[in-house]
Amino acid sequence: MNAEQIIQMMSEQGLRITEQRRTLAELFAGTDGYLTPKDVYELMAQRYSGLSFDTVYRNLRILQEMDVLEQFVFEDGIKFRAHCQEAHHHHHVICLQCGTTIPFVFCPMEGISGIPSGFTVVRHKFEVYGYCEACGA
Ligand SMILES: [Zn+2]
Ligand SMILES: [Zn+2]
Ligand SMILES: [Zn+2]
Repeated sequence: MNAEQIIQMMSEQGLRITEQRRTLAELFAGTDGYLTPKDVYELMAQRYSGLSFDTVYRNLRILQEMDVLEQFVFEDGIKFRAHCQEAHHHHHVICLQCGTTIPFVFCPMEGISGIPSGFTVVRHKFEVYGYCEACGA
C-alpha cells in the first residue's frame, strides 16, 4: 500500500487525518519490513517534539483495529507493518531470515476441535515461520 491508500483507508473509517497520522502512513508505506512501537516512536519524535510514546502506541492500536496495520508478536516483542493487499481473512508465512511476509487465505480455525464448550472465540493467531526461496534453508 502507498501512503495515499493508507490515508484513504483511515478516512473511510472515519479517522481524522492529523499531520501525525499522515506521517505514520508515510512511514509504514515506506517500510518494507516490521516496525516496533519504539522504532515508530523514535522516527516520529524526530519530527514532532514533545510527542509521547503513549500517543504513538494508541495510534498504532487504532490503525491495527481498522486493519490499516497488522500486528505481529515475535519473540522479541510486538511489531507492526502495513496491512497486506489481501482483503479477506488470512494468515502469513514469515521468513526468519529476511522477514518477508506472504499472506495465504487458508484458515486452520475452520477445522479446529478441542475448544472448550462455552468458550467464546474472539480472535486467533496462526503464523508459519521458515525460510523463503531466496534465503534457502
Ligand atoms: Zn496480512
Ligand atoms: Zn527470506
Ligand atoms: Zn484464521
